[in-house]
Amino acid sequence: VLATWATGTRGESGNWKGWDFLEKLGATRIGELANEVDARHLVLSGESPLSHSHVAGERLWMAKTSEPLLRLKGANNAGRFMNWARIADSERSEEGAVIYSETSDTSSRSAVFAFSESTWEARPFVTYLLIDDVLRWLTHEAVAVRAAWPNGRRAAQVIEMDTEDGFENAKHFAALMKENAQPATFYVLTSLAQNEKSVLTGLAQDFEIAYHGDVHDSFKGLAPNLQRQRLINMKSQLSRILPSATRITGFRAPTEGYDGATEIELHEAGFKHHAADPARSEGRLPVFAKIKEAEPENDLIVLPRTQRDDLNLSALNLDAQQTSQALIDDFNESTLTGALGWLSVHSQNFKPTGLLDQAFPSYLTHIRKSAKTVWFATAGQVSEWWRQRDRFKLESSFNGRRMDVNLTLKGSQKLDGPSIIIMLPKKGLIPIVQGTKVGTPVPEISAIDAFRAQLVFESLPPGNHSYQITFSAN
Ligand SMILES: [Zn+2]
Repeated sequence: VLATWATGTRGESGNWKGWDFLEKLGATRIGELANEVDARHLVLSGESPLSHSHVAGERLWMAKTSEPLLRLKGANNAGRFMNWARIADSERSEEGAVIYSETSDTSSRSAVFAFSESTWEARPFVTYLLIDDVLRWLTHEAVAVRAAWPNGRRAAQVIEMDTEDGFENAKHFAALMKENAQPATFYVLTSLAQNEKSVLTGLAQDFEIAYHGDVHDSFKGLAPNLQRQRLINMKSQLSRILPSATRITGFRAPTEGYDGATEIELHEAGFKHHAADPARSEGRLPVFAKIKEAEPENDLIVLPRTQRDDLNLSALNLDAQQTSQALIDDFNESTLTGALGWLSVHSQNFKPTGLLDQAFPSYLTHIRKSAKTVWFATAGQVSEWWRQRDRFKLESSFNGRRMDVNLTLKGSQKLDGPSIIIMLPKKGLIPIVQGTKVGTPVPEISAIDAFRAQLVFESLPPGNHSYQITFSAN
């Protein structure tokens, strides 16, 4: 059953029948969302059984109609109502907008949308992708998708410091990150960095260094030749005090201010990634800049900032404990949706014993508990993975019983850690994977949850690899 909005609450003659029908489908009604509540984006989970054609964290705008969005709760959900920044009120954190269930005695499947059909009339195409996925799941079709992250990790997290005013504070932040065995990336403002040789040399020993421009002015709207000159200045300022500066390939524009010309200049200058603003992509994953005529292996990778930064949080006037909680909430949220979590902090706000410094230790303690499921990485590692992952292609078909999966790895280099997620045709099944040729690399198989399993390859050599997958109850 696919039910939208208040299905079954009224009889044929319009008489009120209550919410029992939706309850039978696994959805409990909590209430309604008033039209004025700032939560009209349906934010979808990546790699979920019902929304895998959408990118993790993609937002679908729900038009205002006479049928209010419903507040529903269910055991499994593939999407939630949030504001544009993907923040939901904490009182709604358990609620879902796309709820699914499979009752084990009959194996019958149901999906409940907490919104009416009229919400997507203005932009039907994006919702049709969701509906296609939902229908495939309801009809017990097994589906294979390329995992966003390597080695069976469900999400990725980057923590970076825009290292500018208060440059010295970076030392303190670095010590804290090192103590907690966390990687970090420091985007340094080179006009200040050039006078901080000892701090910078210390940072470079343990952490990734990248560029945050020459001076703290936006690049947006500047003539391309001026932008080019600023990149040249920036590189020469840093190379005077840091010999390894010539190998730095990451950039984050001051004030997140850039335009198309900035990315073209970055690409021409050999940069590999651009850490951009939250509005840059509709989803919460890296994207290719698609610089004209650049092949994916040479293209610039854009890493959108996907979480609230310290400036967003300080505008909320939180105390240290509330700041920790907000950081933890944002981490949990992006992890749950399979996203690239991107936390940006500013050196000037990381004074020893300052608010952010007080808030950080319990946040770091919390995130470390997820080390088995979340990939903690530098910006450069994420961008390189994203580029390499593009060489990995997957095709699959399902005949009702057996699934054929063809993997292709382009290029001449092996790829470490590629993973595949299988949406199971029935709850709790385990895939049995057989290579069609002797010597085909064998993946490690494990359950993610009742509805999904993953196949993780330690390493895949270039070429084609074919598999047949059947499903077993134990
Ligand atoms: Zn800055």
